[in-house]
Parts: sequence; C-alpha cells; structure tokens
Amino acid sequence: MATISQETVTSVPFFNYQKAFADQEEAFVEIFRDVLNRGAFIMQKDLVEFEERLANYLGVKHAIGVANATDALILAWRAAGLPQGAEVIFPSHTMVASPASVVTAGGVPVPVDMGDDGLIDADCVAAAITDKTWGIMPVQLNGRTANMDRIVDMAEKHNLTIIEDSAQGLGSKYKGQFAGTFGKAGVFSFYPAKILGCMGDGGAVITNDDEIARIIKLYRDHGRNHDGDVELWGLNSRLDNLQAALLDVQFKDYQSIIDKRRSVAAQYQKGLGDLAEVTLPPAPDAHPDHYDTYQNYEIQADKRDELKTFLRANGIGTLIQWGGKAVHQFPHLNFNVSLPRTEKFFDRCIMLPMNITLSDAEVSYVIGKIRAFYGR
Ligand SMILES: *Cc1c(COP(=O)(O)O)cnc(C)c1O
Repeated sequence: MATISQETVTSVPFFNYQKAFADQEEAFVEIFRDVLNRGAFIMQKDLVEFEERLANYLGVKHAIGVANATDALILAWRAAGLPQGAEVIFPSHTMVASPASVVTAGGVPVPVDMGDDGLIDADCVAAAITDKTWGIMPVQLNGRTANMDRIVDMAEKHNLTIIEDSAQGLGSKYKGQFAGTFGKAGVFSFYPAKILGCMGDGGAVITNDDEIARIIKLYRDHGRNHDGDVELWGLNSRLDNLQAALLDVQFKDYQSIIDKRRSVAAQYQKGLGDLAEVTLPPAPDAHPDHYDTYQNYEIQADKRDELKTFLRANGIGTLIQWGGKAVHQFPHLNFNVSLPRTEKFFDRCIMLPMNITLSDAEVSYVIGKIRAFYGR
C-alpha cells in the first residue's frame, strides 16, 4: 500500500501542461530567443539537427520531420507505393488517424481484433489476409511494441508492406529492436501529450529506405527538390524549425523521461497490483522481450464509469481514450464488423495520470483513491 507522504495532495490533473512548462521554462524561452533572433523558421539547421539526433538514437538511416504523425503515415503509404484500392490490415484498437491515413492515401483499411496484450494479433492478421491485401499497419500503443516476429514473417511470406504506426512508441523496444523499425517505415507523433511533445503539432517518419526517404522529403515540401525543381504533386507538411528546436532540447535527455515514466509505472504496479478488480499494463520488467516506455498508463477496471466519476470527485483526472470507441465502433465509418476482444477492452479501459511532472505523493494519492473505491 502507498506510503503516507508529507506533501498534501488534493488533486492530480491527467496532464499538467503548466507544470511541464514551468519545469523547463528557462530552456524553452532561451530556444525561442535564439531561433527568433536567427529568424530560422522553416527547414533550418535545428530541424536537421533534430532529425539527425532522432535517426542516430533509433539507428536508422533517415528521420524526416513532418507536420504531424497523421501526415507521416499518409506520406509513408504514398511513398511506399500503396496501390489505389489495396487493403491494409490494422488493429481497430487505435486512433482513427491510423486507418484515415490509408483512406487518404487511396487504400482500404481492414480492421482486426487485438490480442490479449491490447496490440495487433498475428492470428487475427492471418485470418484477414486476402488477395487484395497489400499492407499491415501494426500500432505500438501506450509505449509498448507488439510481438513482431510473426507479423514480420507473415509480411515476408505474403509480400506485404509494413508501415508501423509507432506514434506512441518512441523508445519502446521488442527483443531489443525499436518500435518503428520493423517495416518499410515507422512514424512518431510529437503532439503535446505524447511522450516527446512539442508546443503544437509535429511528427516524423523514419526509414532505412533511401527512395522512400527521398520521396517523403519531396512530398513534405510541395514536391520540390534541392534545386527547386518540382518532381511530383506534393503538399506542405514540414515540421517547423522552432518546434524541432524545442523537441531537440527535450530529446537530449530522453532516457531520463523514459526512466521517470517507468518508475511511475512501477509505483502503480506496487500500489495496485494486488487488486482483482483491475488489470494493469505489464510491469516495467515483466518480460525480457519488451521494453515499455509508458506513453500512457491504461488499466482495465471493473465498474469503470463509476471509478472515473469517483476519481473525478476526488480531483483526479483520467481519460477514456478516443471517446471510448475503437475505430470499427464509429457507425459513420461503416465497418459493420464485431471484434469482441477490442469491444470488451473499450468497456473497461481507463487511463491514469502518467507523465514526468508527477510526484511520488501524487501517484500515491491516485493509488489510495482507487483502493478506497474498491473498499480496500
Ligand atoms: C497521436 C496518434 C496519432 C496521430 O498523431 P498526430 O501527430 O496527432 O497526427 C496516430 N496514431 C496514434 C496511435 C496516435 O496515438
């Protein structure tokens, strides 16, 4: 059970943007001063430096900053050559941005059920492969990377292209391999609440494929090459130089961000692990194949809605992801399928506060209130 702390906590917001800023105010203000003094706004050295740091960290040849992760996925599908009308299999347990990218790139997204771990499931993928299948889009949720061995084997066997939606997976690994590096390309989101967040929208594509990298660089800047020649119909999807500079300064100490999140996860595990009423994410060192970075701390809970109300009454912010629906559950999208594991998950899921501003006392407060709710 959580220890009583000296610090008196009466509320814990789900995310504390003000505190995140206050903790790094000087560094951020200095970056504004420097970038604005140089007038370095579009595709300047700060972007190049951040891209290099990201590529080096992940051990990939190319990291390309773009406007957001949704664009990153669209450009990756296009650059990989997704044919019009071709099918891409994706887990319905994801943000709508994942399949929307396929539709925007001209393909047909095919939703499948999740595995017991909440991520893409090889058996479900196998059952969904048809002669129209062209790609697979694993989604590495909550800072955890799916069991990729069978997915990669299947893609090789059926000659399918993998593009990973690793928007939530920066730094997470499966068998020592980084999320985003299992297929032709992977993407990351720098949306403010993401593990590496900027002050607005931002994203990146990573790839080891020179041609895909070349085409994405064209697409993001109106199809223009270095000489100003237009090689294809592009769009404007650049990562702002100022955002890149703000990301770069946070990324320099990325391991400490991951370590902090893993320690919060360990604290939740210790405080809640004995409750039969909740299912927790795997603990930080639960399995040697997985290195999780806890983009989110998403539990499954009995009486989920009552728990949320009770926590709110006690000043604790929680989140039910994506409006409480999997992609196939949005009626206007006309999927008309039933995916039982995913649907059951969305009846029970709720995210607890998980970010680097949390103090031990705040996490203890959340733990104590959850225990109180279940009468423990
Ligand atoms: C956040 C997110 C996206 C979209 O990222 P943006 O940068 O907001 O476009 C896509 N997929 C998943 C799984 C996400 O969590």
